[in-house]
Amino acid sequence: MHKIRTVLMVMFLSLILMFSGCDFLLQFLPDKGPDSVTGLDDIEWLKEGPVISTPENKTTFYVVINNNEPSFSKDEYTTESFKKNDPLDSLGRVGTATSSMCRADMPTGERESLDTNPTGWVQNRYDSALVEGGWIYNRAHLRGYQLMGDQDDKQNLMTGTRAFNVDGMLPFENRTADHMKEYENHHIMYRVTPIFIDDDLLARGVVMESDCIECDEEADYAVFVYNIQPGITLDYRTGENWINEDPEIPSVWKSLPSGG
Ligand SMILES: [Zn+2]
Repeated sequence: MHKIRTVLMVMFLSLILMFSGCDFLLQFLPDKGPDSVTGLDDIEWLKEGPVISTPENKTTFYVVINNNEPSFSKDEYTTESFKKNDPLDSLGRVGTATSSMCRADMPTGERESLDTNPTGWVQNRYDSALVEGGWIYNRAHLRGYQLMGDQDDKQNLMTGTRAFNVDGMLPFENRTADHMKEYENHHIMYRVTPIFIDDDLLARGVVMESDCIECDEEADYAVFVYNIQPGITLDYRTGENWINEDPEIPSVWKSLPSGG
């Protein structure tokens, strides 16, 4: 009897999830939800981690922050192309990647292979039914290759799960790239900020901000993308990873203390 009730409950919850996507996630975030996040200093709420992540519910790979408004300061806006990456910190971790870019900056050459091993790089192979392509980690560009042709640059690569890279970051990066392709004379302010908690070697995710200077269309957004992999538990302190034995518990940060 109890079992039946549990099964029904799980089905019910799954249905809610399927139909309500991101809103459903938002209500489970702590009181100080992402809509009230202003700037990047205010990230305490991220420590709670994503409440749920399933391959079926891809919207939960990110949350909109700061009402979807990028928070560049006025004097940062420029239509003169540049790119800048903060130096690695004392633990060797990547920092923020900032740029102003337009179609003329997009690469036309060959993409080179990547050899850098960013912090938290504890590579493992899983069944491809669990992780697309098998390998848990990608060398994830902060500023994607397709935007300004960044190659194997230590200051622009972080350890990211396959899902983070492909299901999390890429759709946003594509939005920006598509906009640059479509509007030759539009300039995009773009910033990707990896978020590490305490001395963690693996980032919890990245804040992505994109703002077209000439218009307010699809290239404008401010989101946090979670560095997670459904079905896999990640130890953010080290980057170690293993199969989540209890699929009822999402691959969450909660089970792991954040730096003691
Ligand atoms: Zn535009």
